[in-house]
Amino acid sequence: MNVDTRMRESFDRELSGKSAIITGSTSGIGLGIARSLAKRGVNIMINGFGSAGDINNVRKELEKSSGISTAFSGADMSSEQAIEQMIEDARSAFGQIDILVNNAGIQHVEAIESFPAAKWNAIIAIDLSAAFHTIRAVVPEMKKRRWGRIVNVASAHALVASPFKCAYVAAKHGLLGLTKTVALELAEHGVTANAICPGYVLTPLVEKQIPETAQARGLTEEQVIRDVLLHAQPTKTFVTTEEVGEMAAFLCGESARSITGAALPVEGGWTAH
Ligand code: NAD
Repeated sequence: MNVDTRMRESFDRELSGKSAIITGSTSGIGLGIARSLAKRGVNIMINGFGSAGDINNVRKELEKSSGISTAFSGADMSSEQAIEQMIEDARSAFGQIDILVNNAGIQHVEAIESFPAAKWNAIIAIDLSAAFHTIRAVVPEMKKRRWGRIVNVASAHALVASPFKCAYVAAKHGLLGLTKTVALELAEHGVTANAICPGYVLTPLVEKQIPETAQARGLTEEQVIRDVLLHAQPTKTFVTTEEVGEMAAFLCGESARSITGAALPVEGGWTAH
């Protein structure tokens, strides 16, 4: 076994037996993060929407591939009470919560003057306020054990804006502000808080938009990908859920203990513009 392999194995083992809640992990980026943490032996509470069959398949896949335990909460991140129940359920399942990943998020694209107030309220609740509720609930136990990792899945839209996304951009900028504040409060307690800022990731949500946009604009699917979706992403390549998952797992490891309050772009150079 060479030195690289030994180092890799020791990185992979250091999180083994820890427990994580990952909101919005029934698909997309959250599921990518679940796979990366499961590979390292972390027990996971899956959260999000989906059919019972699909969610069972996700749980079985994670459990079989890595020998970890999973639990599931269908808590709606727009409900403070449901969030409290999810945290209690995770404690009952695993005894403690070491890692919190705030990932659940929704989007709505419309001009400010016609942007529905209900959409604004839902996006602020799910993409921003949910993280406030989850973080305040887990911080006391993390402080007590002097170890914890909080990873907030923000967006390149936490750093720059795009038109027609007022609620999303406001929520993601807010999430980064929350991340920085919490990082400062917890800096001497062994708990880090960071934000990952992905660019365009080819999740089921985005995949669905490609043929629709092609039809609406009279473009080919290749033109939609390159000139519409990836217009601002210099690599002209989608970020993958695996890449975001591995960034989250790195932030949870011991090597990242001095990284806190940071916005980590995984966006193909988007914010270098
Ligand atoms: P997705 O739609 O594939 O997954 C969203 C997840 O959140 C699903 O598991 C869904 O069930 C869950 N969810 C939605 N509303 C919920 C609610 N009210 N309560 C609980 N769970 C809920 O989307 P994704 O692309 O994987 O997005 C995940 C996160 O990554 C979001 O915060 C999003 O803003 C962020 N993000 C995505 C991209 C991208 O290009 N896909 C880029 C940057 C940031």
